[in-house]
Amino acid sequence: MQTSREGVHWTPRTGVVQGLPSLSVIEPQQFHVPGAEELLDVIVIGAGYAGLVASRELAIQQKKVLLLEGRDRIGGRTWHSTINGFNYEMGGTWIHWHMPHIYHEMSRYGLQDDWIVSQTPGGEQDFFTLTSYGQQSNMSHERENEMFTKTWATFCNVDGVLLRDAMTYPLSAELTTKYDHLSCQDRINQIRDQLTQQEIGFLEGVLLQMGGGPLDRMGLTDALRWYALGGFTPTGLNDIALSTRPKSGQSTIARKIFDHAVRSGLKYSFSTPVAKIEDGSYVTVTTRSGQTFMSKKLICTIPLNVLGDITFSPPLSPLKRAAISQGSTQKCNKIHFDLAGPDMKSWSSLGSPGKGLISALADNTTPANDTHVVTFGPSADSKQGMKLKNNIEGIKDALNHLLPFKRDIKRIVYHDWFNDEFSKGTWCYLPPDWVSRYLKAMQQPEGNVILANADWSNGWRGWIDGAAQQGIESASKVVDALQSVPKSSRL
Ligand SMILES: Cc1cc2nc3c(=O)[nH]c(=O)nc-3n(C[C@H](O)[C@H](O)[C@H](O)COP(=O)(O)OP(=O)(O)OC[C@H]3O[C@@H](n4cnc5c(N)ncnc54)[C@H](O)[C@@H]3O)c2cc1C
Repeated sequence: MQTSREGVHWTPRTGVVQGLPSLSVIEPQQFHVPGAEELLDVIVIGAGYAGLVASRELAIQQKKVLLLEGRDRIGGRTWHSTINGFNYEMGGTWIHWHMPHIYHEMSRYGLQDDWIVSQTPGGEQDFFTLTSYGQQSNMSHERENEMFTKTWATFCNVDGVLLRDAMTYPLSAELTTKYDHLSCQDRINQIRDQLTQQEIGFLEGVLLQMGGGPLDRMGLTDALRWYALGGFTPTGLNDIALSTRPKSGQSTIARKIFDHAVRSGLKYSFSTPVAKIEDGSYVTVTTRSGQTFMSKKLICTIPLNVLGDITFSPPLSPLKRAAISQGSTQKCNKIHFDLAGPDMKSWSSLGSPGKGLISALADNTTPANDTHVVTFGPSADSKQGMKLKNNIEGIKDALNHLLPFKRDIKRIVYHDWFNDEFSKGTWCYLPPDWVSRYLKAMQQPEGNVILANADWSNGWRGWIDGAAQQGIESASKVVDALQSVPKSSRL
């Protein structure tokens, strides 16, 4: 298996090692790359799920497609590394059959039975630890569920009927913007008298895990939409979005899509960061190293927090530029730990304020029979956040703050998304007013250029499903546009 330049792995024996083995790494890195004079039908920038699905859809319709990707691998913010027989999901992880676009990919490639459930009951330490405002208490998962149900439902019940009125169709393209001016902090202030101090601490931890923080920069809309997407029940979101993951790892799905596209004629170039996009009667793309490529249409899947690093000529519309400058609030850390022995396999935790990390979830045991725990922090640059570079001791401290008792840490695995030049953050969570002001504008093609990314999809925006949806939708728009070009004007 190839090793990516990305990802970090620590054990007491090896110390910190940069780079992780992954089947997402593409070899050779270039394939059938066209010359500067060749006019392609479409260039797709970015090999995350949006770019992969778009490339496949176009390639199987016999379009001449070139995929350009800055990294050495496919998957973008979703990829896994296999170490000693265990799949560590470095980014996007949990998907579900209630996420229609990604489930379609699972079933299309015969992966409909390829599931594993993260929650593993029956371990020796089968409880939840809440560390809130200096106090730590252990409680049953039933009590944890009750607390989640009460706080999350109270928070989201803005219309008195648990959003069935305010967000009747959560997958619809119609905007629900009535509460968009409010931040999560505004909403906490509205319901403060309905919750105890401990419950407020719990809720803040839940919200910071969703949006990275700070709470007054996190729009209320995304939290409400997640509740509605969870089937209008307080526990639905966790059941759908924090429970099942592909057993053979996310990169298996990505690889199937990529291989299908290549079989259908896709040309590609990895380790090829794009610097400039010029649109005229056709599109010219210039890479950082000065290579140029030409196409009739362009699908750009670069995420919100790094789109501002690309030069567009002519410049993008003022609304798109404002949307990009606001960005996503979510810049959290996700860190995997292997703890000695299987006894913690049913443990979970929340800490607010945490000490670098705010949540932990045991997710199965490794082949060596150690407990695998996946943890999340708030945004790395926020008050309780944590920078990961040269900070293994800080990372261990952050976990110890959540643990009810010290454990022997045998392995740490992570991807430093905050310092990642191709994402500058993790999943998308939008600030107040963003959806009402900018969502439609981001989805609007400009000339020959379509921006497509999970960060501004409808439905499961900010999730893998939203990326697959944007891939399908953008490819379909391009096919329509190519068909509507009169034959006489074709080059
Ligand atoms: C830590 C973490 C946990 C997550 N957990 C979940 C989860 O459990 N479930 C879920 O559904 N979602 C989750 N997500 C969100 C999910 O991973 C993303 O929404 C989804 O992968 C985005 O796909 P995309 O194709 O839209 O964007 P990306 O995956 O970001 O793809 C964009 C691509 O563009 C490339 N690119 C950027 N700049 C350039 C450039 N200048 N030149 C060339 N290429 C460039 C990038 O390298 C990248 O490959 C998580 C994300 C992270 C990071």
